[in-house]
Amino acid sequence: MAPRLAGDFSAGMAPRVAELKSEAVSTMAKPWEHPFTVAVVVATMAGVGAVVLRMLHGWRRGQVFEYGSTDILSMTKAAAKAFHGVEKKGSQGASRKRHKMLIPKEKTSLIPEVLEDLEEWGGTTAPDSVAPEQELDVRAKALAAVGAPPFKRFLKDRGAGELLRGRCEVLQLNTGLYCNQACTHCHVESSPLRSEMMSDEVVERCLYLLKNSPHVKVLDLTGGAPELQSGFRRLVEGAAAIRDSERPELRILDRCNLTVLLEPGQEELPAFLRKNRVDIVASLPSYDADQTDRQRGRRVFERSIQGLQLLNDQGYGKVTCPMDFDVPLPDGHLSTMHLKSVANFLEPKVQDKWWTTEHVEQYWTDDDAANAKFRIGKSKIAGCGVLATKPIKKGEQVGIVWVKDPLSYGGGRFADLIPRHFTPWFGRAVNHCKGHANSGLVEAPGGAVWTVAKRDIAAGEEVTGDYGEAAHDFPKLVEDAPASWTCPFKN
Ligand code: SF4
Repeated sequence: MAPRLAGDFSAGMAPRVAELKSEAVSTMAKPWEHPFTVAVVVATMAGVGAVVLRMLHGWRRGQVFEYGSTDILSMTKAAAKAFHGVEKKGSQGASRKRHKMLIPKEKTSLIPEVLEDLEEWGGTTAPDSVAPEQELDVRAKALAAVGAPPFKRFLKDRGAGELLRGRCEVLQLNTGLYCNQACTHCHVESSPLRSEMMSDEVVERCLYLLKNSPHVKVLDLTGGAPELQSGFRRLVEGAAAIRDSERPELRILDRCNLTVLLEPGQEELPAFLRKNRVDIVASLPSYDADQTDRQRGRRVFERSIQGLQLLNDQGYGKVTCPMDFDVPLPDGHLSTMHLKSVANFLEPKVQDKWWTTEHVEQYWTDDDAANAKFRIGKSKIAGCGVLATKPIKKGEQVGIVWVKDPLSYGGGRFADLIPRHFTPWFGRAVNHCKGHANSGLVEAPGGAVWTVAKRDIAAGEEVTGDYGEAAHDFPKLVEDAPASWTCPFKN
């Protein structure tokens, strides 16, 4: 029977099975028609499309990306890394080691890491910031909330009278907001995502104003990172030309974040700053690397130190003659006043904090400076010294060495315990010349002590003193020099 069954099966059932198979095949969805498959395909295509669009967008931005991109979506770390050339994989260990062991030269930009951080923070260093047009209102409300009156009312209540504009002595230029860092404390919210930058026309206009404003003593360049703004070098060179041709006292000041000196493309910056005699104002929030990096960004401490080393290689931070003494305001902040001084007046030695602008102006007026009989310059004895700029007659006063502190006038028999204040523009500059000194110390009525010529001194001659004589006359204030100190001058 089996054959029969088989025959039945093969003859009678087989076609039905074949039909069922055929129906099953015809009712089963094709893989590309399955809803899940379709979803996967659509998603993949959308993903690929997005990637392609992003690549195209990135490529387009990449073509124009310079310092100052504004779009964090296009200016991703990938684009920034491609532009700035970050370290290859596997070099991270070396990078970590470098954190401990300072290596003088970084070859890569800080910007990709800053962008990574910014992505994490949502693209801004100040999530609570408000639009500029709302800022006044928001601040006024915040002050009102703590009971602080508006500024004008505050002045009026205290009888301060009308505020009058004084003479402009500092031209401070915010050259742009682009920066290779994005510090959490940045009050202008600078970062690599900011693109606001001074135009060439404004740069030229600023130089015109500087040239035609003879009272301006300081050109103060800030940003962002001023060095990364397109007009920075033109501003510096233009100001240096004004200084060198007609305004020797003009000071060019660059507020430098130090890490900018290591950015690709800025290799010549330290030499450029030095060549144009630009003063650097830089700050580190802390001597502790971790604290600094938390505030200013990853590896900023390490790179700041490297930046300082690059500046030192150019001669910054070294003892020069004369040295600038930045006279502080009475509240300790930086003023526009700076004096030519000598290393042994300045920190970390004996800098006297009593000398603020207020006290300097009391003893060293613009007229005094214009009519001075001396200048601070290179000495043939040692370092810096006092050089006569005009003939000085025997008995003439040359410069004030120290003044009495006003507190000492009521000090009675303790008055001598109150220290004298050696002047930063003259006080510690006269060099020792035992047995051949051409000047001595004389106390004037009022307690100021002057260097006075002991004989006629010719223009160009160095003014010298005898510390032994001075120590004899003012034992609590002057020490004799070591016997080994020699002097090449003979009377
Ligand atoms: S370096 Fe200066 S300008 Fe740049 S983000 Fe920091 S504080 Fe702002």
